[in-house]
Amino acid sequence: MEFPVYLDHNATTPMDPRVLEVMLPYFTSKFGNAASRNHAFGWIAEEGVDYAREQVAALIGCSDKEIIFTSGATEADNLGIKGVYEMYQEKGNHIITLNTEHKAVLDTCKHLEKLGARVTYLPVGEDGLVDLAELEAAMTPQTILVTVMYGNNETGVIQPVKEIADIAHKHGALMMSDATQAVGKIPVNVDTDGIDLMAFTAHKMYGPKGVGALYVRRKYPRVKITSQMDGGGHERGMRSGTLNVPGIAGFGKACELCRLEMQEEAGRLKALRDKLEHAFTAIADCKVNGHTERRLPHVSNVSFRHVEGEGLMMSMKDLAVSSGSACTSASLEPSYVLKGMGLTDDLAHSSIRFGLGRFTTEEEIDFAIASTQKAVAQLRSLSPQWEMFKDGTDHTLTTI
Ligand SMILES: *Cc1c(COP(=O)(O)O)cnc(C)c1O
Repeated sequence: MEFPVYLDHNATTPMDPRVLEVMLPYFTSKFGNAASRNHAFGWIAEEGVDYAREQVAALIGCSDKEIIFTSGATEADNLGIKGVYEMYQEKGNHIITLNTEHKAVLDTCKHLEKLGARVTYLPVGEDGLVDLAELEAAMTPQTILVTVMYGNNETGVIQPVKEIADIAHKHGALMMSDATQAVGKIPVNVDTDGIDLMAFTAHKMYGPKGVGALYVRRKYPRVKITSQMDGGGHERGMRSGTLNVPGIAGFGKACELCRLEMQEEAGRLKALRDKLEHAFTAIADCKVNGHTERRLPHVSNVSFRHVEGEGLMMSMKDLAVSSGSACTSASLEPSYVLKGMGLTDDLAHSSIRFGLGRFTTEEEIDFAIASTQKAVAQLRSLSPQWEMFKDGTDHTLTTI
């Protein structure tokens, strides 16, 4: 076992060596610009991009013509939401999303609000799921876009994407999904799920950082977006800029590996995740956050009451995990995702996210269990609140 043990795969994943192998020639001998039409250097690079585009499309069940390569999911979220808002302005200015979305979606919506958009941020229930009746009630004739994430990055909770898409379509709106955490981990198919636009990224699925994609439906309906980057007209005019050929080739390989291996991998990781949770729930007063069934197989978000999450992480130096969201953990604000699910500040602060991955071993999970149990016991033994809880005199206890 190597230390620290990495259990933060929702923040990023290590690259699969098979992906690196595919990428290497595109840095050296196959260095051409995929847009160079006049010589073999360009053609070879373009061939690599075309092949990768097919590998990416095959994973999500779309045509290669519907894939727009970007620098990652943040850019894809921006391009999809801003691109639809600008393109469909004549139809309306209303966007619906969830208050537990990733910042790449929430901050893009906030930006559009300053430009005249009306945005509804739907709440979620204690289980992290959207209420479909509330969504239906929020739809208006001006609603142009419903953007709801597939699997949540903090809890792994999977939204009812198909039902959400049906409601959006019934009211003439488009359905977009940030599927960054779901693609490559569970089956995602844009046709059966009814998705019109979808953002995802290579580095969360054992590919390289700095490359991702926006899926844009071309038929039933034909979705149009305005570009957010002007220039050479790459990616069918929707995203200018010289293509990141090594990154794209790696992204393609990463997608192919996920398509072939995800079913087995999901089963293995779910068993390890369940072992972890089973051990934790044996610790008194500990709670798994989010719907326990409708959840990505490799994620567990757990609150250890009377223990401060940051402190817990500090006392588990050999374990790389995350408290709250990796993107906001620079601030000590409690996670807005957990608070959005009705957790108190205390409970949100006491939460840890365990994210398992392709190279996680059972030995590592056993180590994680032992070090967490030890650290929780140690911190609780120092906590006056825990003493009061055991004596039955803690009145801050609220069940949620
Ligand atoms: C990681 C993540 C992003 C950002 O992806 P980048 O490729 O790093 O820009 C967006 N949405 C979700 C749900 C994520 O987990």
